[in-house]
Amino acid sequence: MVAKRLSHGRDARHNQGMNDRLPNHDWPALEPGWVWLCGAGPGDPGLLTLHALNAMRQADVIVYDALVSESILDWAPQAEKIYAGKRGGKPSAKQRDISLHLVDLARAGRRVLRLKGGDPFVFGRGGEEAQTLVQHGIPIRIVPGITAGIAGLAYAGIPVTHRDVNQSVTFVTGHDKAGNTPTAVDWAGIARGSQVIVIYMGMKHIGEIAARLIAAGRSPSEPVAVTTTATLTDQRTIETTLAHVETDIAAAGLEPPAIICVGMAVALRQALDWRGQAAGEAPRNLDPLDLRRPAEAG
Ligand code: SAH
Repeated sequence: MVAKRLSHGRDARHNQGMNDRLPNHDWPALEPGWVWLCGAGPGDPGLLTLHALNAMRQADVIVYDALVSESILDWAPQAEKIYAGKRGGKPSAKQRDISLHLVDLARAGRRVLRLKGGDPFVFGRGGEEAQTLVQHGIPIRIVPGITAGIAGLAYAGIPVTHRDVNQSVTFVTGHDKAGNTPTAVDWAGIARGSQVIVIYMGMKHIGEIAARLIAAGRSPSEPVAVTTTATLTDQRTIETTLAHVETDIAAAGLEPPAIICVGMAVALRQALDWRGQAAGEAPRNLDPLDLRRPAEAG
């Protein structure tokens, strides 16, 4: 019954390597005239949710962003693909176009999947698009995704929380609408109040951000990790410090998209870089926090 509802008579042969059927469950139907705003995860196709896969199998049209992997789109051979890429601080007119395009597609009776990198409501303008749709009377469903600020760190071997490190974590954007360092962000407050800071879209202004954190009392030698194209095969991570992060990014030639993590959580990578270990590297330090006790004794 599930397979029947999902197939809509379409050819599912293209889903190589995967079962045609999703696990048994009462999966929701993407009805004509609806828009599902859906997270595609940070890049590794395996980090897509089952709800996202269910949506991809039913969509007539997929409107996707720059950070959505092409290999994921191949999983919806029946759907028309519309690229709606937007990179860094472009004028808001384009966002308006995207939102109104979604309205038009839904009004034309299509099954619309709006696929966004990571989670649609985390620095992804998903909230704005959802508002436009609701304001125009279009029914929506939100499908959360795995956000780069959590999964990207995990793939770099950095736990976003750890009881010996942090009781709080801040997700912050390094860009405002106009592409500047966001003035609405209380960087000094974050520096004082948040043990671990995860910065999205931070590459352009990292020098200024680091300077503000140091001015507010963070140590210049505090560890920082920068991870680019996280969760993909070309993922790269550098470990540096607040004082050196800007120059080290340039020296390594790193390019966005990047997740930047500030805090002692970064030190745990010396033990937990599981991807490096899978590639044959030994753990660099089994006790990077210098706790001098087994982890399970905490
Ligand atoms: N909605 C997305 C974030 C969109 S903002 C999410 O939840 O992940 C775009 C920023 O996300 C990028 O500038 C970068 O900071 C981060 N990002 C997204 N995918 C990434 C990836 N694979 N590797 C590193 N950073 C990523």
